[in-house]
Amino acid sequence: MSTDQSTKTRADAEPILSVENLRTAFYTDKEVIRAVDGVSFDIYRGETVGIVGESGSGKSVTARSIMRLIDSPGRIENGRIMFDGEDLIEKSPKQMRSIRGGSIAMVFQDPLTSLNPVYTVGNQIKEALRLHRGLSGSKATQEAIELLEAVGIPDANRRLREYPHQFSGGMRQRAVIAMALACDPELLICDEPTTALDVTIQAQILELLEELQEERDLAIMFITHDMGVIAEIADRVNVMYAGEIIENAPVVELFESPKHPYTQGLLNSIPGQGLGEDDRLSTIEGDVPTPNEDPTYCRFAPRCPKAFDQCDVVHPKPMSVGSDDTEHLAACLLYPEDISTDEAVAIHRDGNTQRGDN
Ligand code: ADP
Ligand code: MG
Repeated sequence: MSTDQSTKTRADAEPILSVENLRTAFYTDKEVIRAVDGVSFDIYRGETVGIVGESGSGKSVTARSIMRLIDSPGRIENGRIMFDGEDLIEKSPKQMRSIRGGSIAMVFQDPLTSLNPVYTVGNQIKEALRLHRGLSGSKATQEAIELLEAVGIPDANRRLREYPHQFSGGMRQRAVIAMALACDPELLICDEPTTALDVTIQAQILELLEELQEERDLAIMFITHDMGVIAEIADRVNVMYAGEIIENAPVVELFESPKHPYTQGLLNSIPGQGLGEDDRLSTIEGDVPTPNEDPTYCRFAPRCPKAFDQCDVVHPKPMSVGSDDTEHLAACLLYPEDISTDEAVAIHRDGNTQRGDN
């Protein structure tokens, strides 16, 4: 986490990734699932942007949309995905294949989905080096060894000749990260990369990602359902709920001053925080609804302790809720806070967003 750096980076640069009003839906026999429903966010070089939310909130579909990995019955229906100044939605399948695993790399929860069991780890890294950087022979071997060393795999020369099953879970995830780095990406998308690992190994992988980021000025999009992991790794956080980003803030601001009742609920569910009167962990009752209707209301309202009648009929827009120059947005009818609730509701209803130039 490097909040100061992030603020600086943001002030004087163009984002490496700018997602604008992205909408991805799945057309099933039964219903249209609006898995990603008007999502916008930016990522700058050297910055880690977290996407956090419960299971089913649309985090993975957001990542897969950016990579253009949405298959039928799903399709990207709207939006722009500006990467390095170019819209990925306009790219041909061939161009996307070279961007995937090239300037954008992905790390998933299960390292075995990225590793082929029948090839040695070394062969797979060397294949990535050949495809994306044109390296072969002893040059590729040397580079593969350096990559394994860079991700903290000891005895790299020997381990190159081993198969994925000979690696422990943590070492496998390190090998996947080495493969991702083989292409010298500018953006690394991590989808719950530490969720399957025990906490000690998880902490080591998070530390590794931070080191690599600093060395390479990597932009990282980090998806997790775990607020504790967000606190460790993110500079800026997007909180997702039922296909929408309902809050966006720098990590310290989000933890110190969460505005959306959903974010407040997530933070109260972190062990060690928000213990109630009876010393039990408070959790948010219920589940994320399937976003299968137009958002003409607040999708969180049925679970929200602060919901009032208007929440069922007015869709909340992102409002600026930060102090002075902090970029902090929350999509909740309770905001803006400095006017009456009726006036606030009118602003949301009339579609006057305060998203500004973010
Ligand atoms: P998360 O990663 O936040 O747990 P996902 O992005 O995987 O959530 O899913 C978001 C929503 O999209 C869920 O309601 C899920 O059921 C739906 N969804 C994802 N993939 C498909 C698919 N291939 N077909 C139909 N619905 C899908
Ligand atoms: Mg997911």
